[in-house]
Amino acid sequence: MEYVTNVIDLVGNTPLVQLSKVTDGAPGLVLAKVEYLNPGGSVKDRIAVRMVEAAERDGSLKPGGTIVEPTSGNTGVGLAIVAQAKGYSCVFVCPDKVSEDKRNVLAAYGAQVVVCPTAVDPDDPKSYYSVSDRLVREIPGAWKPDQYSNLQNPLSHYETTGPEIWAQTDGRITHFVTGMGTGGTISGAGRYLKEVSGGRVQVIGADPAGSVYSGGDGRPYLVEGVGEDFWPSTYDRTVCDRVIEVSDGDSFAMTRRLARTEALLVGGSCGMATVAAVRLAAELQDPDAVIVVLLPDSGRGYLTKIFDDAWLARYGFAPRPDAGVRVVGDV
Ligand code: PMP
Repeated sequence: MEYVTNVIDLVGNTPLVQLSKVTDGAPGLVLAKVEYLNPGGSVKDRIAVRMVEAAERDGSLKPGGTIVEPTSGNTGVGLAIVAQAKGYSCVFVCPDKVSEDKRNVLAAYGAQVVVCPTAVDPDDPKSYYSVSDRLVREIPGAWKPDQYSNLQNPLSHYETTGPEIWAQTDGRITHFVTGMGTGGTISGAGRYLKEVSGGRVQVIGADPAGSVYSGGDGRPYLVEGVGEDFWPSTYDRTVCDRVIEVSDGDSFAMTRRLARTEALLVGGSCGMATVAAVRLAAELQDPDAVIVVLLPDSGRGYLTKIFDDAWLARYGFAPRPDAGVRVVGDV
């Protein structure tokens, strides 16, 4: 018989899938690391497991304790899964701009969700930062993982994501492309790949125009989960060789194209990272290039946004012909 005793044993060891249509004939191999195949549906399951287990070891999380984190999305799901497996409670604090669907997913796993107003100052006692800090003080046995400062976040990628990619490509990877939010993925997996290859692997960050990672001028952007307006302490500035800036419009068009032509229903930050990987392949024109691009989550959380024509139009993006050529009528 072949089975695991808990879903958290299924975290990691995600496959690489070759992208062949969206590369538009660029030479070289572009391989997608498909992180939505983690049990919680995103790359964040990896950091959840490691942050919780480290907190258990150092005593900051005790049996029966409560995990409190300001998160609305993927990290919350990862933490909820690990909490359930290990008997902890979860309280997630999120701003009211977060869709009801996302809040309901967290509640479905048994987490408590506290919703705070978006339109207040971070210092306001009602802001989601203030509320999560207050809950950590008030709830007995509360522990806040804080993915933006917790070094277990990049470490989880140094110990799992990076080595998996190296083994799966038989050490032939030449470029690693990923988006940057907390910077955990690029700092951990990127550092591992640089070390193991003796500095040969090039590490490329994809970033929404406007974020600090690409020299941010503060312009707002819509792609979720990536880009920051501050430098998180989980980001290691020595790892990334180059940043490729991608617009919302290009990110969303590629996200839809990935679903329609590669059958990969993935999120907006995946489209963004793929745009960067394909641009790189086109620029390199190297048949021996092996570019690995990490796709963090699934497109199911964005059906009423990126995959909805009316939503795109509302933000000024015309739904583009995703397959490159659109045949109308009989042929
Ligand atoms: N994409 C999505 C959808 C995410 O939720 C995140 C995490 N914030 C990232 C990309 C970026 O990953 P990291 O935090 O490791 O930089």
